[in-house]
Amino acid sequence: MTKKFIYLFKQGNAEGSSKMSNLLGGKGANLAEMSNLNIPVPPGFTISTDVCTYFMKYNKYPPGLKTQVNSAIKHIESQMQQRFGSIRNPLLVSVRSGGQISMPGMMETVLNVGLNDKTIQGLMAKTKNKKFTFDSYRRLIMMYADVVMDKSNNLKCDIRIDLEKIMSLMKKEKKLIDDYDLSGEDFNDLCLLFKNHINQKLNLQFPEDPYEQLWGSIDAVFKSWNGTRAMEYRKIEQISDNLGTGVNIQAMVFGNMGNNSATGVAFTKNPSTGENIFFGEWLPNAQGEDVVSGIRTPYPIDNSNHKQNLKKIMPDIYKELDKIQTILENHYLDMQDLEFTIQENKLWLLQTRNGKRNGPAAIKIALYFLNNKKISEKLFLDRIRYNHITELLYPTLSEKDKKMIPVAQGLPAGPGSACGQIVFDPERAKELYDKGHQIILVREETSPEDVHGMFASSGVLTARGGMTSHAALIARGWGKCCIVGCREIEINYQSKSCVINNITYRELDWLTLNGSTGYIYNKKFNLIAPNLNKNKDFLSLINICDNNKKLEIRANADSKNDAILSKSMNAKGIGLCRTEHMFFEPKRIHEVRKMILAPNLNLKQKSIDRILSFQTKDFYEILKAMSPYSVTIRLLDPPLHEFLPDKEDQIKIIAEEFNINISDVNNQISNLTESNPMLGHRGCRLGITSPEITTMQSTAILKSAYKLKNENIDCAPEIMIPLVGSIEEFINQKNIIDKVAADLNQKYNTIINYSVGAMIELPRACIIADQIAQYADFISFGTNDLTQTSFGFSRDDISTFLPQYIKKSILEHDPFVTLDIKGVGELIKIAINKARSVNQNIKIGICGEHGGDPKSIEFFNKIKFDYISCSPFRIPIAYLAAAKTNTI
Ligand code: ADP
Ligand code: MG
Ligand code: MG
Repeated sequence: MTKKFIYLFKQGNAEGSSKMSNLLGGKGANLAEMSNLNIPVPPGFTISTDVCTYFMKYNKYPPGLKTQVNSAIKHIESQMQQRFGSIRNPLLVSVRSGGQISMPGMMETVLNVGLNDKTIQGLMAKTKNKKFTFDSYRRLIMMYADVVMDKSNNLKCDIRIDLEKIMSLMKKEKKLIDDYDLSGEDFNDLCLLFKNHINQKLNLQFPEDPYEQLWGSIDAVFKSWNGTRAMEYRKIEQISDNLGTGVNIQAMVFGNMGNNSATGVAFTKNPSTGENIFFGEWLPNAQGEDVVSGIRTPYPIDNSNHKQNLKKIMPDIYKELDKIQTILENHYLDMQDLEFTIQENKLWLLQTRNGKRNGPAAIKIALYFLNNKKISEKLFLDRIRYNHITELLYPTLSEKDKKMIPVAQGLPAGPGSACGQIVFDPERAKELYDKGHQIILVREETSPEDVHGMFASSGVLTARGGMTSHAALIARGWGKCCIVGCREIEINYQSKSCVINNITYRELDWLTLNGSTGYIYNKKFNLIAPNLNKNKDFLSLINICDNNKKLEIRANADSKNDAILSKSMNAKGIGLCRTEHMFFEPKRIHEVRKMILAPNLNLKQKSIDRILSFQTKDFYEILKAMSPYSVTIRLLDPPLHEFLPDKEDQIKIIAEEFNINISDVNNQISNLTESNPMLGHRGCRLGITSPEITTMQSTAILKSAYKLKNENIDCAPEIMIPLVGSIEEFINQKNIIDKVAADLNQKYNTIINYSVGAMIELPRACIIADQIAQYADFISFGTNDLTQTSFGFSRDDISTFLPQYIKKSILEHDPFVTLDIKGVGELIKIAINKARSVNQNIKIGICGEHGGDPKSIEFFNKIKFDYISCSPFRIPIAYLAAAKTNTI
């Protein structure tokens, strides 16, 4: 027996199910599932993705497929009481693509397959509707010429554009606006014109044989899996190329049979906001693609302000649709994106899938299901993706700017706002983006060919199309600001300009889009960051993460303002406070330079005392802002020459103040120059050669702590010694700190709380972590330097060879972004095990960039870190990652 390649479905009964999306593709699996739920689905069958894989490999179909297709066509024929190719009573089918993971609009679909000069007579006789009959026929010819004859043969003739021109010309001659204003006779003429043009341009004949049409379409759908735009989309979305597509062949139902017919797309919740309302768009007297392609702006299905809303115009159908959407959402327990068609007052469902949504909507929707006890916390966390959170961080217009008068309004396809220079061509958008421009892509409508340009843009604006158009769908999936269907814009691609209410805008002019109101402004606005602490959904999400995670999340913060920001982002402490950043303020840097260049200890101490006073103030403010949580303060780390003056006048001032020669200052500067500063006189080596710096810094920290203690403000300073490589180094520095503490305790007659730890960023430190742990209260991995010193890669120079390393699979990814678990991770594991073996209470954290990387966080969680620390804006991501990894 040959293998089963085909799975049948009809209302009430299907061979497949939603669990079989590997084999049937998402569309096929869900058509089967809907059929099993007894939802009205036109009968059909799915050719499995195995066939696609086979076809890609051998460039032919597996033996037995033809026979199985023929008998499956019989299945549809008997359900529909029609015959494929019959002149009297013809069956028409659609041939639809559908991969395992939905790629909206990226692959091909052919509708009305089976129509030819003969079968058209049957359709005509049965429907007595010439307009419908020839409209369907011209659609088939158009789609077939485009998808099968042109694209799948790689002819690149743009035949579709030609045919659309022919149609536009006809409309123009007859002074008509919309396609459906054309008459049956017009459509008949169009069929002839189309066929002639195809003949001339492609030197190919439109096939009359229905089976030839069928196989041509199947071929084209399979080939579209490897079409440029599908491949491009998969690359961006990181979908594997090996999955393959299924092909769904399904009896046609017609939304273009007159005013009691229609087609539409609906979402069980609002996909832009996540609001719990049934949301959708429809077009009377239209066929499938018309809604999505944006050639006509559709009407809302439920909006009492709109004359053409479906609920009012077809109340019974609306009621049935509403019932079905509830069934589907409760069945899938997620927001569904539905396609439906109404043929002469009978409703048919053509597709359901988990709808694309933007970040804010994703969180609101997942919370809805969680709060209604329909999904578990684990499933809830699974549904929130990292980029959903990133989208909440999108900028919006300031309250003042929101009051400005917009120049136009379109449909708000969300999210956030975008400001950029307008560009009318996707290629150009990408080119300018690569040069660093911020772009708003302005198009009549977008098509799958435009995705690279959309990706490169901060915002997308289209003149046509609705909330379910291609542009809206793709932008929503990527969380990109988007406004669609803005009728007030007239675009002229040729002159690279557009007119909005009589004003002309040219390429590179600035526009600002508000994706949540649809308003368009002709100015460059300063967008403002969102206030997450007022966002209830965000707070609920963080709360749920908090309940599910073990890791403590801290922030890397170097100033009072950063500390306040971090705390507002829910950081429970600071894992890395770099003291050197405080040195760079204009007034201070001069003092720091003097400290380094002082000709004698006396003068040096004077500068140190002045630095002490401002460092004390800084630490006081930071510890206070983070109270009652811990703040890990790293002692001075970078090589001193980073602070030195390089301008002549600066050097001159120093020489004058010290009353020494300029050349002496210059000599001193060149003494400090190193050939490899990254491995030079830095880290704890500085504190060892200049103990007065360590003394000063620990005094500043402990005095601040003392002051706060007096004010009854809890604080927990943790003093971290950088770049420790040997236990002797650590002890040397710790002794200085402990001595400062003892002196202060005696002076103030009190006990100031503090702890001392080591920053582990050298392989040697990992190996001797047990020795360090005997003296240290905590260790924190500086994974940037640890990666640098383990691989021997300089972080600042890796970009010269990294791309080649990735291409040649020598590295899987940039080890400075995602921790190298096999090597650097192993060193960390050794260090942790050694440290804990001698000191069970030692606190273990990480303060490199990896603290904000989900994959790395998963690893830190697994090997039982106490905390991770990352930059403030990564905190919500770190929360989510810490919670997700814990519920695995
Ligand atoms: P996409 O990959 O763009 O979702 P689809 O296969 O869903 O492609 O088809 C494109 C359009 O054609 C959709 O609007 C769909 O509803 C419509 N369509 C597909 N099959 C049929 C059919 N059998 N009868 C009526 N409309 C159909
Ligand atoms: Mg579809
Ligand atoms: Mg370091």
